[in-house]
Amino acid sequence: MIKKILLPLLIVAYTAAISQKINYNKHQVYFLPTKPMFYTINKGDNYLNKETTKNYLQNKYLDSKFIGQSLLLDNIFYSPAGTHLRFKHLYEGLPVFQSFIQANYSADGTLNSVLDAIAKFDKYDRPSIAEPSSLWANSTNGLTPAYLVIELDSITKKDRSRLYNFEDKLLLTFTTALSFQSPDSMVSAMVYLPNPLVTANVKYGGKYIDNRDANTTELSAARRMVRVPLTFTNGKFSLKYGFISLVELSDPPIAPIHPTDTFLNYTRDQTGFEDINAYYHLYNFGKYVSDIGFNALQDSLLFDTHALSGDDNSMFIPSKYPFEIQYGTGNVDDAEDGQVVIHEFGHLLSHKASPYTVLGEDRVSMEEGQADYLAMSYSRSLNMNRPDDVFSWDGYNEFYTGFSTNANQVYTNRTGVKDIDRDLWSTALMCINEKLGRGKADSLTLSYYIQQAAYLEMPQSARIILKMDTLLFKGKNVAKIWQCFTDRQILDTVPRNLTKIDPLFAEIDIKFYGTYEFSGGVSNIRIQFKYPDLWKEIEIYNYIGEKLSSIPVVSETIISPEPMRTGVYFLRIKAKDGSAIVTKKIIR
Ligand SMILES: [Zn+2]
Repeated sequence: MIKKILLPLLIVAYTAAISQKINYNKHQVYFLPTKPMFYTINKGDNYLNKETTKNYLQNKYLDSKFIGQSLLLDNIFYSPAGTHLRFKHLYEGLPVFQSFIQANYSADGTLNSVLDAIAKFDKYDRPSIAEPSSLWANSTNGLTPAYLVIELDSITKKDRSRLYNFEDKLLLTFTTALSFQSPDSMVSAMVYLPNPLVTANVKYGGKYIDNRDANTTELSAARRMVRVPLTFTNGKFSLKYGFISLVELSDPPIAPIHPTDTFLNYTRDQTGFEDINAYYHLYNFGKYVSDIGFNALQDSLLFDTHALSGDDNSMFIPSKYPFEIQYGTGNVDDAEDGQVVIHEFGHLLSHKASPYTVLGEDRVSMEEGQADYLAMSYSRSLNMNRPDDVFSWDGYNEFYTGFSTNANQVYTNRTGVKDIDRDLWSTALMCINEKLGRGKADSLTLSYYIQQAAYLEMPQSARIILKMDTLLFKGKNVAKIWQCFTDRQILDTVPRNLTKIDPLFAEIDIKFYGTYEFSGGVSNIRIQFKYPDLWKEIEIYNYIGEKLSSIPVVSETIISPEPMRTGVYFLRIKAKDGSAIVTKKIIR
């Protein structure tokens, strides 16, 4: 999570737009991003064997013009949507930056889709690489030898990666920081579920203010008791269980608590409160993620609840392993707000599922929006108060505004600014949550996490989520999900063949033109169908109910006056599924 950086971001977006207009030449070389493609395969073969999958993908997706390319199995994920085999793209044995391909198999072993993020190039900058420990990058000069430098930016305190070619020309800069155990013992603890303003259903202000971490009767009363496992060694507890461990990572230097009592009854003026509060939410949400089948997206995590030198920020740091989350203490301590805690954890899940793919305007906005979504889906599972206010304790106050999962922005008016566009993506996901329920919506979101690539755009992501519905839920929710994306103008109108004809409104789908002129014999009747594939045929009856003929339905169907005698006729148009019949009287 990053706050208060709207202005610098706008500048970045502006310069990026300018740089795209530059005419590339040998002296101005840039990284060339790959537009990823998601291919749905309807009658997939069974290649679940790793070697045959690799050979199949190599033959079908690698450009045979350039020999020396190969694939290397990078990761296998198991999720409720099936098995996902991800391969790195190699050239002459070295990886190509950001270039990979993934085969997705259904539970029955059938190949159902391929995510193709293989770099497309038509020439090489150099025939071979002399220096070891490097990689290839696709550039405006073709595939070129390159190397990565990762350093800590002293101002933003984020890892910044720079990609250079072998003439030390900078190709790309990007930031990578987004924002084990012994037998457990269950203890009781007082925490916020997920924060005091949601519990009390109030807005920031009055008795409910940060006031430099001071405790009040109200803020104390907003705590709730939970049960949570800790690790017990040498007579004291550590906040450590499964993948998660509380540690000291950065200033202020506040040692993690090691309680000896089995009831952790801290109030917010004590540092132990942030420790147990963040720990509980990470534990609770992590358990849920495993319970719905996505344990593969979790990994070892160290977290510090008093970090980042007092910044009012938090961040997930994917370049460290074990992964790290640092929660800042500026203004409202971030670790006091369960929504912030889970937002950062959402980045971990996304990174584990699709490492180092947060590049590109849409992809960056979606990364934040879907972390907001997971935080609010979790928040709603605890308490339905303030259901759309993202970071309602840490934000929505004088320090910063927070975000929303109930935005009215639309994709066609997107700004390219992460902290604006994130809301439209989180709102679409929350719409799915409201229609399908939390379990299904979260499962769709997390299955989609395994299909992410750099430079993925929202309409592609929407279609991937639709595909996930066919894999997880036999496509039963496709129309509802589609409507959520249509509402945000991420996808066009829901195809009518996904929905049922509503008999009450069937006539809206059919428009008749030229009926008056037809009666004088001077013009055809034109019948326009909005969704012609939903309708069976047009039957023509005379006034005593004898069927005279029938005409197949096309999007504009013509009835000529010539062969018809004067009189009264009836047109009967039946829906293919039998759900509706439209009748129209015409006079000739
Ligand atoms: Zn974030």
